[in-house]
Amino acid sequence: CGIVGYIGKRDAYPIVLKGLQRLEYRGYDSAGIALYDGVNLNVCKTKGKVLDLKNKMEAEGVSQGNIGIGHTRWATHGVPNDVNSHPHYSNSEDLVIIHNGIIENYDALKKELIKRGYTFKSDTDTEVLVNLIEDVKNKENVKLGKAVQIALNQTIGAYAIAVFDRNKPDEIVVARLGSPLAIGVGEDEFFIASDASPFIEFTKNAIYLEDGEMAIVRLGREVKVREIKNDSSV
Ligand code: GLU
Repeated sequence: CGIVGYIGKRDAYPIVLKGLQRLEYRGYDSAGIALYDGVNLNVCKTKGKVLDLKNKMEAEGVSQGNIGIGHTRWATHGVPNDVNSHPHYSNSEDLVIIHNGIIENYDALKKELIKRGYTFKSDTDTEVLVNLIEDVKNKENVKLGKAVQIALNQTIGAYAIAVFDRNKPDEIVVARLGSPLAIGVGEDEFFIASDASPFIEFTKNAIYLEDGEMAIVRLGREVKVREIKNDSSV
């Protein structure tokens, strides 16, 4: 399983797709990509190989876009199928997330969110997490980075995540606990991946997150790395 992301001036699709191919060695059962083209946030995902994803996307017509995230899934919660594949939208379809790992207390969180009016399309723990982030963001009226931090402090489990908001397409928020995550720093562009292989051809400047760290990756400024636990820092 693996995660890839890109934000910058280039077209994200070929970078994310190739990145997923480089991460295939990690093993997976499904794959998916989300791209924002300035108007639409398009998600395409499928059970099967990255090649199946490529064929599906190219048959449907791939959107151009300077921000994108991609995922190879190794199912833990919910069978391998198209719906359970990542990326997952939040209910508003503003947020989109990819996640490797397990949210162990997803069931309790899901019940709470259902009480608050949230609905779920998939059986994954990941869709619970993206809706928890959305709920926190709206309830606390905070930025995405802070919402991710507060939400992760309510979870038990392991993760590498990348999430972005279509309303703020200059930023990807990432976090790591128990699954690897690297950020490639280029000139006016950033790469995100489970290991450096998807971006090694573009930059040698990599930040490897430690367990318990998150980062706000925003165009036009330095990457901000923070402790997930330290609540005052984002
Ligand atoms: N727990 C998540 C799921 O089953 C992520 C699995 C993974 O690490 O790919 O969808």
